[in-house]
Amino acid sequence: MMRRVLTAIALILILPIASSDGEIHTTNGIITHDILCSQIDELQFDGERANQSVAYQVGLGPRIPQSNASSILRTSISENLTGWQVQNQSHQLDGLEIVNLEATLNAGAGKIVVLMAHYDTRQVSDQEEDSNLSILPVPGANDGASGVAVLLELARHIPAMNLSHEIRLVFTDVEDQGDIASGGVSIPWASGSRLWTENLTVGEIENISSLIVVDMVGDSNLTLTRTSPGNETMWQAVEMLSASLGMVADKEDCNGDNGSGQMDTSTTIGILDDHTYPISVGIPAIDIIDVKYGSDEVLAGHWHTQNDSIDKVSAQSLQSVGHLVELGLRAQVWSGISEPPSHEIEEEQKLITDDIAEIEAKSLDMESAVVGSLIIFMLFATIAAVASVIFAESEGEL
Ligand SMILES: [Zn+2]
Repeated sequence: MMRRVLTAIALILILPIASSDGEIHTTNGIITHDILCSQIDELQFDGERANQSVAYQVGLGPRIPQSNASSILRTSISENLTGWQVQNQSHQLDGLEIVNLEATLNAGAGKIVVLMAHYDTRQVSDQEEDSNLSILPVPGANDGASGVAVLLELARHIPAMNLSHEIRLVFTDVEDQGDIASGGVSIPWASGSRLWTENLTVGEIENISSLIVVDMVGDSNLTLTRTSPGNETMWQAVEMLSASLGMVADKEDCNGDNGSGQMDTSTTIGILDDHTYPISVGIPAIDIIDVKYGSDEVLAGHWHTQNDSIDKVSAQSLQSVGHLVELGLRAQVWSGISEPPSHEIEEEQKLITDDIAEIEAKSLDMESAVVGSLIIFMLFATIAAVASVIFAESEGEL
């Protein structure tokens, strides 16, 4: 996955605690903690099976765009999607073939819920300090395979859920090939998602009630946070769903036990990922991602290194995220995200488009602003020191 959208200072915003103990207002009705708990025994997602998919994907080798491994994985994904209508969507970008894979169930029925994950893996390990390692492709156990594994395991169970609305699974290519300095072809972040979004009709965009991206969700030490940009109602839903599943510290789960710290919804981290372009056209979307991978720091640790390997991923973490998405489907949360009035969408859209365009500029501005302020401060401090010496000396003369 991705990169951070602003510098570290601006990244982490502490938000007021949202009303997770309350209820979620959806177009399908009000969802309460008790309603979620009444469905928790129905959950089918199997973390062990998802983990086997991670092992299979890593075993194929790096899933770099246009590689054999990439093609083999697409075929395997298609073969695993029993009961779904599967379509390869091929695009050309700067001489490169980009292939997204979209699977649909209940086509044409009601609202559309979209679940999205990138299946490509980064062609360089540019977070490695050793130049012999930094040119190697990442294994992509967490960054690539984990999201695909969660979607595939959900895909096994969704047909039997008897949902009344359309569902699409989108496996995107070329999410993770941005900002490559040397030794490879640099393609902008989230290009596959951008092409998928650009090829939606106005009718499809209006009909999508929610879109959920899952990326880097397998870290055995799962530490999810809210991410930005993202739909507020969907994040409130995530807060309630994860609390009921025992993923939130100091919140009671459906058994009355205190939760773990897998989900920290009091922290928000800005991220450019596959959710960004759908949001820019007004689709309610969130990115469920753990950007603290093998480290307490954001985008450090195993991220984009040779250590993004199968031993860092656990069935338990995959299952937590799988259950979160599954419970939202079963409780009719994701199909009932209400839409803001169209003028709000336009304003939000403009703000987000501006944000994307100015990400680099803002980061640079912030850095130069900090440096500039320091220089001015030091200049004044020097003048003040010199002035006080002169003043002291002249006082002494008197
Ligand atoms: Zn990545």
